[in-house]
Amino acid sequence: MIKRLLISGTSVLVLSIFCVGCATVPVTGRKSLALLPESELASMSLSSYQQMLKDAELSTDKAQITQVTRVGERLAGATHAYLQAHGHTTEGLDWEFNVIKDDETANAFAMPGGKIAVYTGILPIAQNDEGLAVVMSHEIAHVLAKHGNERMSQGMLTQLGGMGLSVAMRNKPAATQNIFNTSYGLGSQVGLMLPYSRMHESEADHIGIVLMAIAGYNPEASIGFWQRMDKGGDRPPQFISTHPAPERRVQNLREKMPEALAVYKKQQQKQ
Ligand SMILES: [Zn+2]
Repeated sequence: MIKRLLISGTSVLVLSIFCVGCATVPVTGRKSLALLPESELASMSLSSYQQMLKDAELSTDKAQITQVTRVGERLAGATHAYLQAHGHTTEGLDWEFNVIKDDETANAFAMPGGKIAVYTGILPIAQNDEGLAVVMSHEIAHVLAKHGNERMSQGMLTQLGGMGLSVAMRNKPAATQNIFNTSYGLGSQVGLMLPYSRMHESEADHIGIVLMAIAGYNPEASIGFWQRMDKGGDRPPQFISTHPAPERRVQNLREKMPEALAVYKKQQQKQ
């Protein structure tokens, strides 16, 4: 086991030096580890996503569904425009937005291919379209940056010695599924999200406010949103327990705000 880990450690090192199997993260330009074909991840995700929706109670509130779809589609449009303008592919992105009825859960999640779910518990904290755009652009950013692929690649290297995904699914289906679930923050019960690393979270915040700006939402709304999340009432919102402390986020957001505001102002002038 130690030997395998040592070999895997070396593989990670070699991969990061030569950047074989790397993807460039939109907006930040960081090289991320993406060893697994997104198409294979997308099909694994789709079945998990559909299962989660089946197990959950979906909102039947027309106003909620319309709002989430409206904000999601506006952000997805901006995302595609950005990707195309910057030479990134939009292949494999097929956005879908759903609302899960759970007023106690202040959370949202995203899966590869652009499958996004928002829990009704986060809507009062979002307050309006701009607030909701903070949540949804953050989730879209996780998809664009392929954070799940990066975690899954690391997991496959350390736990399965870098075995290819389809081979691993055939030979070690349970272990592979387990790495997949951990990588995408899927717990054993619906709504239990495992946290992304602080680096992934900050990167998703950064990309998120730039996407908001392109879509014509004021990125400064993100500060207010996280401050409201911080106040959270008597029960701490789940989104906080799986995400970094709001004060750290706000500080990080303020650092990236000039970049997002410049994009926003340019966008406003166009209109
Ligand atoms: Zn996140």
